[in-house]
Amino acid sequence: MINTLLICGGGGSEHQVSLRTADFIEDQLAKADDIALKRVEMDSSGCLTDKQGRVYHIFYDRKIRDENDNAWDVDYVIPAIHGYPGETGDLQSQLEMFGIPYFGSAPEASKTCFNKIKTKMWLSALGIDNTPYLFLHSLEEKELEKAHAALEKWEAIFVKASNQGSSVGCFKVTRKEELAAAIEKAFTLSPYVLIEKALVARELEVAVYTFEEELIATLPGEVRAPSDTFYTYKEKYAAASRAETFIEAEGLNEEQLAWIHEVSVRAFKALKLKDLSRIDFFLTEQGELYLNEVNTFPGMTPKSMFPKMMENHGHNFAEYLTGLIRTAVPEKNGKP
Ligand code: ADP
Ligand code: MG
Ligand code: MG
Repeated sequence: MINTLLICGGGGSEHQVSLRTADFIEDQLAKADDIALKRVEMDSSGCLTDKQGRVYHIFYDRKIRDENDNAWDVDYVIPAIHGYPGETGDLQSQLEMFGIPYFGSAPEASKTCFNKIKTKMWLSALGIDNTPYLFLHSLEEKELEKAHAALEKWEAIFVKASNQGSSVGCFKVTRKEELAAAIEKAFTLSPYVLIEKALVARELEVAVYTFEEELIATLPGEVRAPSDTFYTYKEKYAAASRAETFIEAEGLNEEQLAWIHEVSVRAFKALKLKDLSRIDFFLTEQGELYLNEVNTFPGMTPKSMFPKMMENHGHNFAEYLTGLIRTAVPEKNGKP
């Protein structure tokens, strides 16, 4: 049996989304009879609790222990956490220290990609087109002046907390009266604030993952937010969402598809990602393509694109994940 610990929740703003991702993963692993899955939820203080309310401590000597000192071996961890401390790489650092293999990218890649500003610096250094931007380190007058100048130049901008996902701390600003409040709000969520030129663009997403050690980039899918808003938290997850999703984006020409594929694969390799990612792009009316962001642990809720794009590519998610787990724990592979 491969004892696999599924850790969900976490201390970030995407706690609830993570629980839904964990439901999906639990469901996918239900039929794997060589994998014993234990699910624990992490609260904002890092405490782990199972569904029966038992509290656990991790990870020394590759075990978790409950309050009564009952120990349970851990062969593999699935850090199913969007945002802190999973997608940020912090939990993975602990797992590295204890030598426990896990699903997804290592600490450094996770950290780089979860910081939208660092990601853009990397993309620019790699020669990968991304939206024009600047960033603010504080609320000092000089910094705010930079943001005002950007709004004047670009007419519409996105103000984003540097280290967030699910559109938390992400605001579209077109009026200068709204700018300071958006920046202040973003600074309450992250140490830096990204200011980006707002594009009128289609939003494309690519699932990039390794299947049997081969790196796969699927055809791009598309998400379409209603015309009066952007792809906000509500449009991503609420039952009342009006966003539409398409597993394959229509009408892209060969050249665009080739560019997206090449850039997806190059970004995955150059940023040293592992196992999975969802890489998102913008396509403007003028046909310009930009890489928007790299998500090292994309959502896997019933509405989410990552598993659907993988399925559409001909790969079954359950087979994919069980394959990764069995490869990562070769000493237990095939043993009941
Ligand atoms: P998150 O990690 O929170 O998903 P994104 O950078 O993807 O952050 O921004 C969330 C959403 O905001 C995007 O899906 C898109 O709808 C909108 N958006 C972000 N940046 C821009 C931009 N520069 N131009 C147009 N829309 C944008
Ligand atoms: Mg994101
Ligand atoms: Mg996004």
